[in-house]
Amino acid sequence: MNLSSEKLRCLGLGTRAIHSGEGVDAETKAIRRPIVLANSYKLPDNLSELPESFDRDRPQAYNYPRWQHPNARYLEERLAAMEGGEACAVFASGIAAAAAMFFTFLNAGDHIVCSHICYIGIHELLCEHLAKRYGVEVSLVDTSDLDEVWNAIRPNTRLIHVETPANPTTRISDIGGIAAFARQVGAILSVDSTFSGMVTQSPLSLGADMVMHSLSKYINGHGDGLGGAIIGRHDLIRKICEAATIHLGATISPFNAWLIMRSTETLTLRMQKHCDSAMEVAPFLQSHPKVKFVRYPGLESHPQHHVARRQMSAFSGMINFGLHGDAASYFRFLGRLTIITHAVCLGHAESLIQFYPQDGDHPELGVLNYPEDIGEGFLRLSVGLEEPEDLIADLEQALEAVPV
Ligand SMILES: *Cc1c(COP(=O)(O)O)cnc(C)c1O
Repeated sequence: MNLSSEKLRCLGLGTRAIHSGEGVDAETKAIRRPIVLANSYKLPDNLSELPESFDRDRPQAYNYPRWQHPNARYLEERLAAMEGGEACAVFASGIAAAAAMFFTFLNAGDHIVCSHICYIGIHELLCEHLAKRYGVEVSLVDTSDLDEVWNAIRPNTRLIHVETPANPTTRISDIGGIAAFARQVGAILSVDSTFSGMVTQSPLSLGADMVMHSLSKYINGHGDGLGGAIIGRHDLIRKICEAATIHLGATISPFNAWLIMRSTETLTLRMQKHCDSAMEVAPFLQSHPKVKFVRYPGLESHPQHHVARRQMSAFSGMINFGLHGDAASYFRFLGRLTIITHAVCLGHAESLIQFYPQDGDHPELGVLNYPEDIGEGFLRLSVGLEEPEDLIADLEQALEAVPV
């Protein structure tokens, strides 16, 4: 464990995921980072010895954990190394990370272009709060269409926020193409890469300025911790920390930071299995007569399959599909599943499925924005780490409950 961080950065992702941010505890010689729960740190007796500006990356600069604490710092070091960015800031949840980013970079009168298919909490944060109450201009567009993105840009566009693959439909947006626009107009491009599980795409290398992750999904992966992260250039991350860590206060708990850090060690292995299994489950669904449509970026039938192939090394474990029949058919199907659980969230070891009814809670997001053939709704399946043949058998017997 004597790898310098420069040397580590040249090594493979699986190696970085295990060794970055790790270290030998000075007091006990434990080779694992301890969980530090203290909420105060000793100040120098002579206050003139305080570091001039608290640098969150320096251990001696801890004072109060809302600003920074050791477990957050270890995790930030690891995630920055894994994603290939200069710096990282972690937060209590994915939404907290998004809020930190939006509050930092958007002033009243600024404009943001955002995917019109995106995580519902982000949509609401932008439209209900930033637009209605704080005077931020919000354009929601189909970011899989480069012309739409270009046409939405205004002189006051500050941020372009793209979710790819998008939650819940797996729509893919061309990160490199949008990055070129952002550069041309001097806007910042952030990519919510949560669905990619980090290891299947690398938005920074495609020109994004910042990458956002809900750590509560694949990166933690065990269905038991909440967290969020933003990774990018030092200057951008520093701005976010100055504006948001102290004043928004959405600090990750040391225990959650530790849990997530432990989970990253198996991320490359887990993602491989999620991707391989989804590549078996998706064609099974596509060939089933009771399935109306399947959206999986790894299938040629996916509308942006060619973009996914260009920018992703594998296609993650999220599948979107619809059934022939009405809502009652969906309920019967869900009621028959024995291995796969009907629950929110994704990226866990266990497979999860969620039903999105056509007349759901968010008509403004619009069925229009979802696949045209959505019918009575659709399902979002997070393919877990169970054996794919067992998942297929579970889906097959539950599909028997769907009337023809
Ligand atoms: C879950 C999710 C979020 C929000 O993250 P939380 O950790 O639940 O706050 C943001 N973006 C995407 C794509 C998500 O799936």
